[in-house]
Amino acid sequence: MTATITVLGGAEEIGANCCVVDLDGTAVMVDAGLHPKRRDAGAFPDMQSLGDKQCDVLVVTHAHTDHMGGVPFVLRKMPWMRPLMTHATRDLSQITLHNTGKLLRKEHPEILSAEVEEFYRGATIDHLRMAFEAVPYNEVRSVRGYNGRSDVDLTLHWSGHILGSAGVRLECQGRSVMLTGDVNFTDQASIRGAQLPRTHADVLVMECTNGAATDLHDRHTEEQRLARFITQVSSAGGSVLVPVFALGKTQEILTILHSLMRKGSIPHMPIYTAGMGVRISKVYDHYCYTEPVRHAGFEISDIPQERINPDELEREKFFSNPSLVVVSSGMLNQPTLSWRLAMMFARRPTFGIAIVGYQDVDSPGYALQNSAPGEKFVFGNKLLRRSCALESYRFTAHARPEELVAYVDDVKPSTLVLVHGSTEACDAIALDVLDRHPGMRVIVPRQGASYTLW
Ligand SMILES: [Zn+2]
Ligand SMILES: [Zn+2]
Repeated sequence: MTATITVLGGAEEIGANCCVVDLDGTAVMVDAGLHPKRRDAGAFPDMQSLGDKQCDVLVVTHAHTDHMGGVPFVLRKMPWMRPLMTHATRDLSQITLHNTGKLLRKEHPEILSAEVEEFYRGATIDHLRMAFEAVPYNEVRSVRGYNGRSDVDLTLHWSGHILGSAGVRLECQGRSVMLTGDVNFTDQASIRGAQLPRTHADVLVMECTNGAATDLHDRHTEEQRLARFITQVSSAGGSVLVPVFALGKTQEILTILHSLMRKGSIPHMPIYTAGMGVRISKVYDHYCYTEPVRHAGFEISDIPQERINPDELEREKFFSNPSLVVVSSGMLNQPTLSWRLAMMFARRPTFGIAIVGYQDVDSPGYALQNSAPGEKFVFGNKLLRRSCALESYRFTAHARPEELVAYVDDVKPSTLVLVHGSTEACDAIALDVLDRHPGMRVIVPRQGASYTLW
């Protein structure tokens, strides 16, 4: 029996994440993302590297765009693939895929030929979704591809990253491949840490987002810092803007703010929300009894929230009363609500902006995060001078480097494949692992190259 892996996206970067694991003739594609930045041919998984190879099954680990945004694209190329994912991911896909389509149409990138545009039309996405098959956690599905010589047993395991997120275990003729997907081993405010199997796998394919991170504080410390900032700004009469990703970070920050208010760590004040984050919170609420959430039955909608009217921002009450404003996008991309509000908040000396997530170096959020008070900087396509207060926090939904290495210790794979991280992050984990397991085969794959697993 032979086994290979081909990485079609997410090699030494967080890109259009996608890999194909071939086990004895059955080809399982795991994830099909849209690259967060590229809008040329590299925006989608590199299907050309597959040559004539056909895939049989598509497993989507979770609904973030860098894992799911390329699903319409790959399904158009291989419409016979059987798409599998958890129930929550299927529900979330309704919101995220339509949003991806809207985004691509608005951006008019060069890849958006008439053909590709058709993949992302609302009606096409609705049709695709009817083919999505929901698989419960920890339940084995046997699949066998067109050229498969034996069954592949496939199981999804809770990966603690966002609602619906899963790691995938594949077993074939007594050998196994474990793919972590995006994984987080410690509890977050809203959801519990991963419950991935810690038993031996022959091959482990692991994400490395935080592989090189040295400045990760624990969540409690970050919460206390955030509470101090909010208290300071609001006691001077200002409001605080918290730019967040709609899926995952919105629900996490709302839960944190609510609990800080209940504990008396910050004063009671209105919380403003809007748009896609609100729709996603409703899906979280739907699963508040069945998924590994921190507090069963707790609904994000139970947190009192005021809705923002994006057409009349100047008239919003948070400009006159201390409030918290939690809106996307997380990296303050132009012309999202967070970007528009940051333009208005930045000019008010008593106001504050709390950056709570990763900022890509090319994003307006990064420019804002590194701006000096009183000095002009380029924010999107506008010049801005920041007078408001600004602080940065790291609330990560990815595993810490030491947790990743500890997971490798438990799984003891013969081959470790490192993906979904910068070259620096993958190398840092590779070196750490090789220190502890000198005989282990560690691969930092190149995009498009195939590696024999056994
Ligand atoms: Zn993710
Ligand atoms: Zn990711």
